[in-house]
Amino acid sequence: MTTKKIPSCNDSFEADAISVNQARNRIIDEIKPIKGIQKLALRSCLNHFLAEEITSPIDVPSHINSAMDGYAITGDDLPVDAPKTYQVIGTAYAGKPSNNICQKGQVVRIMTGGVMPKGCDTVIMQEMVEVVDDTTITLKAEHKTGQNVRQAGEDIAKGSNILSIGRQITAADLGILASLGIAELQVYRRPRVAFFSTGDELRSIGDTLGEGEIYDSNRYTLYAMLKQLDVEILDMGVIPDTKEDIHSAFVNASEMADIVITSGGVSVGEADYIKPTLKALGDTHFWKISMKPGRPLTFGSLNQDSNTAWFFGLPGNPVAVMVTFMQFVLPAIHYLSSGKVKKPITLKAKCSSKLYKRAGRTEYQRGIFEQTSDGELIVKRTGKQGSGILTSMSLANCFILLFEDCDGIEAGESVEIQPFPSSL
Ligand code: AMP
Ligand code: MG
Repeated sequence: MTTKKIPSCNDSFEADAISVNQARNRIIDEIKPIKGIQKLALRSCLNHFLAEEITSPIDVPSHINSAMDGYAITGDDLPVDAPKTYQVIGTAYAGKPSNNICQKGQVVRIMTGGVMPKGCDTVIMQEMVEVVDDTTITLKAEHKTGQNVRQAGEDIAKGSNILSIGRQITAADLGILASLGIAELQVYRRPRVAFFSTGDELRSIGDTLGEGEIYDSNRYTLYAMLKQLDVEILDMGVIPDTKEDIHSAFVNASEMADIVITSGGVSVGEADYIKPTLKALGDTHFWKISMKPGRPLTFGSLNQDSNTAWFFGLPGNPVAVMVTFMQFVLPAIHYLSSGKVKKPITLKAKCSSKLYKRAGRTEYQRGIFEQTSDGELIVKRTGKQGSGILTSMSLANCFILLFEDCDGIEAGESVEIQPFPSSL
């Protein structure tokens, strides 16, 4: 009798495992971005993904205005060779224009943001002016026509495209939209993400631990990573390792959510109900990835009525959960939300630790990077790298990426790092 080998985090290279990039591409190929749209008041749109093209209804700024506190003048009337004296005929404040029309030999006192008076195209900043008395100033022959003036539409021209579909709204975007007088936006609805842990050894905080039992920490790291995204979170707790419980959890989760995440129940020696349940309720798209940690990972889809939920069966080991979430679930949620593929940022750094590795899989070692006083990035590993050693993640501010063909790094070599979003 031949027994089928179940993959685990400790397996060596397997020929039928797929690469990290293949896995990422397959996920993106399968997932269909959210189509549901809602209209929200401007402030509520922060971090949501835009579902409409925004073109500007107005010029920003709407009028030619002054960039400085100073004096508005006609460029043709500036002194050419010698200083010249002028009459101050009025004042223009921001929001309170001056009705005076400048003739030769005249200037208008103007404040920053004040609309340029008729006949003026230049502002001389007040620090460059000699004030003779309340109505008289002298200018030297050192100024240029057009200086210190903001043109109408200089920031945003009326009718120009400002923000495109799929854009995640930032703080600066909110400011721009407010400056255009836009009160509401069409945005995509937020993805709903359900997650639960599986494992008879798991206890919740507050319970007393029996022999061999551990507290469920994966739901806390998953919750925390999801909390930083623009998603609705559905925490379904710990589900016992029985066929019936897992089946009903899958059905409930896929009725409510766009993405269902589980942790545990997919490695060596498990009474493994995750895979058969997924098979019964939907499709399994892949199973093994040549990476460490995170080798045993399931991606699939669950079909309930007209709703499809995308399923991620993450490994149980706490570090593997975080690594696979960041490498696969994060880009999947981004694509689901926006229809856009987002590549994680990587940087080059000098590695001060010797790193051991076997060729044939991508490794995500945990590292601490910093910038030296001369601007160089250096990285060291956090210490023990076991996939159950969660302190390796909490000490780290980046992954050190060791690609498939790499068979180790000597201290002093250059490596690629992937900073954690919180460290950028
Ligand atoms: P499994 O994939 O279920 O075999 O789990 C692999 C390892 O991760 C085992 O040592 C589990 O006890 C541990 N583990 C599984 N789920 C969790 C969890 N929710 N929190 C903390 N550790 C877990
Ligand atoms: Mg388990």
